[in-house]
Amino acid sequence: MPGEMEVADSVLDLIGNTPLVRLGRVGRGLTCDLLAKMETTNPGGSVKDRPAVAMVDAAERDGLLKPGGTIVEPTSGNTGVGLAIVAAQRGYRCIFVMSDKMSEEKVALLRAYGAEVVVCPTAVPPEHPDSYYSTAERLVRETPDSFRPDQYSNPANPAEHERSTGPEVWRQTAGRVTHFVAGIGTGGSITGVGHYLKTQNPDVQIIGADPEGSVYSGGAGRPYLVEGVGEDFWPTTYDPSVVDRVVRVSDAESFAMARRVTREEGLLIGGSCGTAVHAALVVAQELGPDAVVVVLVPDSGRNYLSKIFDDQWMLDFGFVRAGAPCAGDVLGAKEKDSRIPDLVLITPEEPARRAIGTMRDLGVSQVIVSVTTDLPLAAKEVSGVVNELELMDRAFGDASVLDRPVKEVMSPNMPVVGVGEPVSALVGQLDRAPSVLVLEGGHPVGVLTRSDVLSFLASRSPG
Ligand code: PMP
Repeated sequence: MPGEMEVADSVLDLIGNTPLVRLGRVGRGLTCDLLAKMETTNPGGSVKDRPAVAMVDAAERDGLLKPGGTIVEPTSGNTGVGLAIVAAQRGYRCIFVMSDKMSEEKVALLRAYGAEVVVCPTAVPPEHPDSYYSTAERLVRETPDSFRPDQYSNPANPAEHERSTGPEVWRQTAGRVTHFVAGIGTGGSITGVGHYLKTQNPDVQIIGADPEGSVYSGGAGRPYLVEGVGEDFWPTTYDPSVVDRVVRVSDAESFAMARRVTREEGLLIGGSCGTAVHAALVVAQELGPDAVVVVLVPDSGRNYLSKIFDDQWMLDFGFVRAGAPCAGDVLGAKEKDSRIPDLVLITPEEPARRAIGTMRDLGVSQVIVSVTTDLPLAAKEVSGVVNELELMDRAFGDASVLDRPVKEVMSPNMPVVGVGEPVSALVGQLDRAPSVLVLEGGHPVGVLTRSDVLSFLASRSPG
């Protein structure tokens, strides 16, 4: 009598039931348990497979998605993969809208499943017609039989975590879980799991891990580089009442932790996992032997090989330092004039004349053009530089240039170096441009010119 075959009916049956693994090396020295819920083992490689299927199921049930229909969603990628998997299984067309902050691998991945991807600029306000959200709305309007799951307002998103992820954590820890830590993007994971665990045991502590600058930990919504977590608005899928504490984590801490977990545990994890594990360690360090800390690991580091796992990228954005002397040393040696801010900024719509006034008042030879003047900035928020010499050249030919907005007279590409890059890299950049923007932890922190480098070199040479 032959036995039963062990076969899943489709890829959709492989979603969920992800393993828990002890972070024994990263967590050495802790007295409590530190356990990672590895959502990387879902077939789409992330936690978002779960709500993706749930949102499509609910839409079919409610008659919002009919055979042959099109799914349109603005997504950072992981929800897209989940949706693309269901769409492939059930024959839907998919169009995804992404911001240019996302890694190229994420775009390529969605296209691999047969989805269409529209990439939108980050450097425009949400009400702009080219923004991420406006583009998604237009596509929904223009595409017949389209359905937008809207993971930020779809109750099926947190509900799925309450139905599946939460009970798994409870069962896998035999009800001993005392702390649950997760990053907050839509808030679906933390809200659903949090609700479930609190119903089982109201004493379980739910801890959010949030990038510095995001609204969940009191920021204005920018600027940070970590992908998939942090927001600039409060989605309805997030229930803050279920969260006992939110830990703020910088990009530098997130990326360092993602790299550390990968190297020490052999678990290749993404940037937002670094955010969550960093927060989990902050919490775990305060706890005793009875505590069981579970941290949700949303996706794999494979999505970020050209970013946080690329040493040159980490150097370029000022997250790590090469051997001294480096650009940061030149910046540190620069004589500080307290009247002059480290970054002299102007917004793109202001007249060129104002840039001249600023340069004259402060005695500087360039002004950085940035979509916002709220510090800290993100590197992407810098749209160019207005340089004294270049502006003079142009105004000499046509004086009306001075009344034009700076965005029309600036040099669009301001070269950048990371604080940790060697002075040789800085010199290389200054060969091509009169000034260079210095990044530290992903944020512009200062400007260096040829004379800054010369003074630095002169101060170091004997005699
Ligand atoms: N990390 C990554 C990489 C993600 O894609 C997401 C989903 N936006 C999250 C974390 C956060 O999950 P949630 O939307 O459930 O809050």
